Amino acid sequence: MQLSLYNTLNRKVEPFIPIEEGKALMYCCGPTVYNYAHIGNLRTYLFEDILRRTLEYNGYDVRHVMNITDVGHLSDDGDEGEDKMVKSAREKGKTITEIADMYTQAFFQDTDALNILRPTISCKATDHVTDMIALIERLEAKGHTYTAGGNVYFSIDTFPRYGELARLKVEDLQAGARIVVDPNKRNPMDFVLWFTQSKFANQAMVWPSPWGVGYPGWHIECSAMSIKYLGETFDLHCGGIDHIPVHHTNEIAQSEAATGKRWVNYWIHGEFLINETGKLSKSKGEFLTLSYLKERGYHPLDYRYFCLGGHYRSQLVFSWQALDSAKSARERLVKQVLALKGEAGSPSLTLSEGGRSYIETFIGHLNNDLNAPRALATIWTLLKDEELASDEKLALLYEADKILGLGLKDVKEEIVVIPEEVQALVDQRLEAKAAKEWAKADELRVIVEEMGYSLKDTSEGTIVTKICNQNSR
Ligand code: AMP
Ligand code: ZN
Repeated sequence: MQLSLYNTLNRKVEPFIPIEEGKALMYCCGPTVYNYAHIGNLRTYLFEDILRRTLEYNGYDVRHVMNITDVGHLSDDGDEGEDKMVKSAREKGKTITEIADMYTQAFFQDTDALNILRPTISCKATDHVTDMIALIERLEAKGHTYTAGGNVYFSIDTFPRYGELARLKVEDLQAGARIVVDPNKRNPMDFVLWFTQSKFANQAMVWPSPWGVGYPGWHIECSAMSIKYLGETFDLHCGGIDHIPVHHTNEIAQSEAATGKRWVNYWIHGEFLINETGKLSKSKGEFLTLSYLKERGYHPLDYRYFCLGGHYRSQLVFSWQALDSAKSARERLVKQVLALKGEAGSPSLTLSEGGRSYIETFIGHLNNDLNAPRALATIWTLLKDEELASDEKLALLYEADKILGLGLKDVKEEIVVIPEEVQALVDQRLEAKAAKEWAKADELRVIVEEMGYSLKDTSEGTIVTKICNQNSR
């Protein structure tokens, strides 16, 4: 079954044809480790994980590279503002290395908790400054750069295809001209490859270079590291939709100008997570992190399930209510897995024709530009199918979970200490049952279940268990 993906470059869904048969070379722009990732950032890494798992399911050997930005990302993508790392270190009274280590660790804790597979290679910008300098030298040798006011700039007028990805129009470029602040730029869309002049006198992270002591621009790092680990032309490059007009546009210009070759064949962009008032941001209002969701009683995989419910190319609106629905749906799924395990013991080793058709439908949806919501719906349909045996349903769920990543193989019922308020309700239910007040007993069961506990009446009494995943985070 052919995998097709929406390629931003051509604005259409296209069959995925790799450069080398059986391999997929994929680069994802990684985090700037100056703060915790917010759940919007995590949505992007989640969609990239679904892409990677789908590629792997289709038999591709995926080489997944992701950068860790620990230098050069200014607070404004258009070369203005201060380095985000330097600013964060100053505000928190720590060194830049401490900040980078702390937030890199926090980032991987979050992605692990979300069952996002770790990249094959994650590379730190500060370990690759030499590669960046070498790339800037290549650009300089080909006449794509100029030096002004101490900084090295990429001249977009030397690259006629500039802006093709974003379909930038002349009017947009003129709009840019009105807001340009850096008087050194010959064209307002030119961008810095190497800074030696900083508005901030005590710029903490600097390296020697042919153009003087300084630090790299943000865009050059992705070009240098992806070329180093994936080659001068590779298959897929991903990121959030906000990267199209500046970051990815500039990455293409400098990479293709340096090598003279097409750099990336498929550009895959994920839409934003927004809240009910609009854009989610690190500075506006509630700063939504995965830890915060956990504090409020959600399992990280509730958030994964929530994201699976929206197509990656559509905006997804976050609300506590929507997260509650995802939580209860995921818990229902976990309960179904537990029930099937109880009935069947182990998954069936073979599939009937009916079973196979479900898995084909499931992967068909994912192969159709990663339609995770439809794939998820297929799971619920097969669970309702009375023709399918329990062991086969279990086998199908485990198979689907290779992409869904909801940890379904790991679920188990855990005996936990039951909080007093839950126990009180359980006791009231027993009293209601003894008094044959069945409606009241049922009502109390629902309340207890909504609190995340399940009840099983046995000859030895009522067993109360909490539904959770084995690898509780
Ligand atoms: P940053 O650490 O700011 O470079 O962002 C990391 C990734 O998150 C990038 O791919 C961004 O495009 C993406 N991103 C930022 N905000 C959101 C959002 N609200 N929803 C989805 N992705 C986002
Ligand atoms: Zn990048």
